[in-house]
Amino acid sequence: MPIAAGEMAREPTAAARGRAVAHAPAIGVLALQGDVSEHAGALCALGVEVVKVRLPADLARIGALVLPGGESTTLQLLIEAAGLRSPIAARLAAGMPVLGTCAGMILLAATVLDGRPDQWSFGAIDLAVRRNAFGRQVASFEEDLELDGVAGGPMHAVFIRAPVVEAVGPGVAVLASISMSGDGVHPVACREGRVTVTAFHPELVGDHRFHELLVADAVAAAAG
Ligand code: GLN
Repeated sequence: MPIAAGEMAREPTAAARGRAVAHAPAIGVLALQGDVSEHAGALCALGVEVVKVRLPADLARIGALVLPGGESTTLQLLIEAAGLRSPIAARLAAGMPVLGTCAGMILLAATVLDGRPDQWSFGAIDLAVRRNAFGRQVASFEEDLELDGVAGGPMHAVFIRAPVVEAVGPGVAVLASISMSGDGVHPVACREGRVTVTAFHPELVGDHRFHELLVADAVAAAAG
């Protein structure tokens, strides 16, 4: 179920934030490859306990998970080698909140275009994404994004060999989009239920609103 835009736009008071963090379960960061320490740093800055997830047993300690950026093809091999594919899929199917950034977005999408023939994904959000869609010439860029339904003004977004969203299912809320020259407007931040994905890297810019959203989701999921 997508969360209503109005619900997300409510600015939490500092006291409400403090209460949320006090009741937050530990948050996992998949720690096999990619920008793990940046995500862990963002979550630590919010005051939550962070668990670096490397083994299936680590999943038992967490109430939500970050799938970081990196290289989705490498990540999927490492996930399988660590025996984490089925246990993560099971937690996602049971409603564990998750934030996937860049390669993490690819790993969560229902459909991956331009993937390797053996590319798989968790299919936790009803999106079709295309890998490396910005091409090699303009592989990385930065842009200030208007966010829809997330309070606090535009967010500075860093795109690094980012995937692009080509199709969005009916239950998916688009939180931000960008115009690609000659190729129209594409979503770059989406949410379906408690699954949130960004094509860019919120962990790199010191703006923790997507991590706050994950912590709030973890608190809500723990409350049942
Ligand atoms: N291009 C990478 C992939 O396909 C994603 C890049 C990133 O996470 N910064 O997995």
